[in-house]
Amino acid sequence: MTVRLISERGTESADPAFTQEVLGASAAHLERCYQCQACSSGCAFAYIFDYAPHQLLRMVQLGLKDRVLESKTYWLCASCETCATRCPNDIEIVQIMDTLRHIAFREGYTKQTPLPLFHRTFLGGVKSYGKVFELMLILRYMLTSRDIFKLSELPNNMKMGFNMFSRGKLAVLPDKIKGRANIKRIFQQTEKKNG
Ligand code: SF4
Ligand code: SF4
Repeated sequence: MTVRLISERGTESADPAFTQEVLGASAAHLERCYQCQACSSGCAFAYIFDYAPHQLLRMVQLGLKDRVLESKTYWLCASCETCATRCPNDIEIVQIMDTLRHIAFREGYTKQTPLPLFHRTFLGGVKSYGKVFELMLILRYMLTSRDIFKLSELPNNMKMGFNMFSRGKLAVLPDKIKGRANIKRIFQQTEKKNG
């Protein structure tokens, strides 16, 4: 069931089932939020978000599913927990951000930022090598996102790559860690569980 809300955008659809899903999946006590904004005033990343954390939470409470899931905020959240530490109501904001990422992946709200692609590429590398292999991560990401073809950015990217390489931050070959098979098994079990 959807309901219509009057907002600064005119009328907007609200989906109470979305609010219930976030409330149920995260057990983060979103219902306790009274908009004091302590979370947002302590968030070091809020300046790059399209909605501050307290705004995003209010939109989830109201069931503004499209507006929430089309936002970049939950993708850009660094999961640093500063907001949760400051929250007087012990709301687990990072859990809510994680829940939103899961719903966004499931329902295809991944176009607004390249971060979902970056997450996938990062996890693919961990699955293959057991840990991050930065050189492969950068190459795979740039090829998949087609950023490698942005010629105007090529000089800067090459300069950054050279600087990282000269400071020993980019290995040419991956580290051979112990327990790669265990890590692959963890991925297989998770993939099976998530269908
Ligand atoms: S600090 Fe907690 S109660 Fe205050 S706005 Fe943020 S989430 Fe809501
Ligand atoms: S966990 Fe996310 S929302 Fe909270 S302070 Fe850190 S970056 Fe901001």
